Amino acid sequence: MPRPIQALIHTRALAHNLARARACARGARVWAVVKADAYGHGIERAFEGLRGADGFALLDLAEAERVRALGWRGPILLLEGAFEPRDLELCSRLKLWHVVHREAQIDWLAAHKTHQAHRVFLKMNSGMNRLGFKPTALRAAWHRLNVLPQVEEISLMTHFSDADGARGISEQAAAFAAVTHDLPGERSLSNSAAALRHCAAAAVCADWVRAGIMCYGSAPDFPENDIMHWDLRPAMTLRSQLIATQDLVPGDTVGYGSTYSAERSMRIGIAACGYADGYPRHCGTGTPVLVEGVRTATVGRVSMDMLAVDLTPVPSAQAGSEVTLWGCGPHDAVLPIDEVAHAAGTIGYELMCALGRRVPVDVVD
Ligand SMILES: *Cc1c(COP(=O)(O)O)cnc(C)c1O
Repeated sequence: MPRPIQALIHTRALAHNLARARACARGARVWAVVKADAYGHGIERAFEGLRGADGFALLDLAEAERVRALGWRGPILLLEGAFEPRDLELCSRLKLWHVVHREAQIDWLAAHKTHQAHRVFLKMNSGMNRLGFKPTALRAAWHRLNVLPQVEEISLMTHFSDADGARGISEQAAAFAAVTHDLPGERSLSNSAAALRHCAAAAVCADWVRAGIMCYGSAPDFPENDIMHWDLRPAMTLRSQLIATQDLVPGDTVGYGSTYSAERSMRIGIAACGYADGYPRHCGTGTPVLVEGVRTATVGRVSMDMLAVDLTPVPSAQAGSEVTLWGCGPHDAVLPIDEVAHAAGTIGYELMCALGRRVPVDVVD
């Protein structure tokens, strides 16, 4: 028997979450963002659930080729654009739309020989200071692109730094509007957090919403809001089994460093899941976990291949009992990945992207 750990990708949850993005988008078209191998879910595995999107956004050219290889003939957007001039050849060949965020990318386009003029998304740096033209430089870049025969259509985009938080998007949205108000072309501003929290203002959803994390069933503004609040469903389950149990008496300790010490007699279970599977080692005692669908908590340090769980709320548990590290458990129990991420001091994005290579993955309905 193989080691009992397994990840599941839930096709119907992906489709449901995409439909939620569409509902938030108020008529805007929806990019399913599938960068980082569909946030760790696997592009090929996630495709069936996300094929109802209007386009796929990603940044690795090899991933764009994989989306085309799946038979997708609709829009694909390269979120970081070309990394070097010859990337534009693949854009021509595969009909990829690409972001233009710096001057050199315009130079490369101007020198690019193609029969197929490109659709580009000109990116404005509206305050995040990662990619894009400063407000003072954006219009000159637009005019440069506008006279190139290699460019068929110019769309406009920006990205928010604080769509999930208290600072919000109003300053950045206003900066973008001020610079672009009289330029033609479609617009894309919103990621998941902006779509969920700010799309009551239709200008924020604009023509294209870029929905990433919400498609995968994680709340971008956890712990302020959780997936139940946003009506999202886990698209990934990480599950395993207990492979042993231990009876502890007061004073017994658990795991490396003996960081947990039993204060009473208790039973613990040892689950076949550790940091080599992508479970975060920074989770301390008390991280939520499901055993047979019953919510309990980890005890002690996470080791490479195992972690320990308190069996007090699940006295019937024994070796072979199902353990849900995140996602969907038995009896309709759900453990949002965001809760585990929060306990580790990180975000759901990081956990799903870091699923261990050794974990077998199945696609289920
Ligand atoms: C990753 C990314 C997104 C998606 O963000 P989520 O928070 O996952 O919805 C949108 N736009 C850009 C430019 C990105 O890089």
